[in-house]
Amino acid sequence: TLILALDFGGTKLAAAIANLDSREWLRYERHFSPVNADANTDLKIMRSLIHSLIQGVTPSAIGVSFGGPVDAITGKVRLSHHVAGWENIPLKDLLEQEFSIPTVVDNDANIAALGEYRFGAGQGHDSLFYITISTGVGGGWILNGKPWRGAAGMAGEIGHTVVDPCGPVCLCGKRGCVERLASGPYMAKDAREFLLNESDKIEANQGQILRSLVNNNLDLITGKVVSEAASQRDELALNILYKSAWALGVGIGNVANLINPQQFVLGGSVTKAGKNWWSVVQKTARETALPEVNFEIIPAMLGDDAPLWGAVALAESVL
Ligand code: ADP
Ligand code: ZN
Repeated sequence: TLILALDFGGTKLAAAIANLDSREWLRYERHFSPVNADANTDLKIMRSLIHSLIQGVTPSAIGVSFGGPVDAITGKVRLSHHVAGWENIPLKDLLEQEFSIPTVVDNDANIAALGEYRFGAGQGHDSLFYITISTGVGGGWILNGKPWRGAAGMAGEIGHTVVDPCGPVCLCGKRGCVERLASGPYMAKDAREFLLNESDKIEANQGQILRSLVNNNLDLITGKVVSEAASQRDELALNILYKSAWALGVGIGNVANLINPQQFVLGGSVTKAGKNWWSVVQKTARETALPEVNFEIIPAMLGDDAPLWGAVALAESVL
């Protein structure tokens, strides 16, 4: 059985054909979206990718991972946070009309949860919460072995649960959201602003290494640079990284108390921050949850291919 998987990410587009029996990619293409991409250019690229991939083979279903809110029942995209023009695009219908293959569409966090459950770190765990910590922080549920999307597809938004009501203001307007403290870009922002505005309060070894890693050009600070500085014991970077892990840990502990899943599967680039970050997440989550509430927190396995494998898993449901 062959399944065509598509990944409309924020900056990248991928299309692949999986052989479900051998669990291998038969064909695989990954491209950057052009700069200033809009929905039309993304769709055009994707269509031509599909046409070239399906030469000589017939996939039984198409699964699509989309980086933004989707109505999974109708397969209609609500919008994209990264690419203009995706408002109310009936992606499922467009692809079914063009290729005459049954198609399913869901948002990337739900899809990644399903992918990790079916093919990755979560195999055999019928209740799990997948969290991606990267440019943003999002999540997706598997409950009783099935995706749980919420009444209107909005379940899993751990990024905008509040862990510090007096904390800094988030993109969403509230204070102290998990995403505001834990995401890569916000870690970078906090480091930059501290170095700009509070340099008079800075003691030795607070930010010195961070500054030198970017040759004093604070614009070059990213979450990755913060974690590099932390691994060289820069105090400012260590504090910021600690705050990221702490915020996520509080979020996870609260979710554990509320829903009691077996597993939390963590993916996304910030999870590469290292052992220290992971142990603070583990410890804080453990301290936040009730002692009777058990769970494990483990790294995701599928990496960059999580959306594609998740799309394969979703497409299995229409075979
Ligand atoms: P993706 O391809 O997953 O979007 P990016 O490389 O663009 O990943 O990184 C997303 C965010 O994660 C950025 O803010 C980046 O600085 C941050 N990041 C990447 N690697 C690390 C790391 N090792 N530690 C902490 N943050 C990281
Ligand atoms: Zn928020």
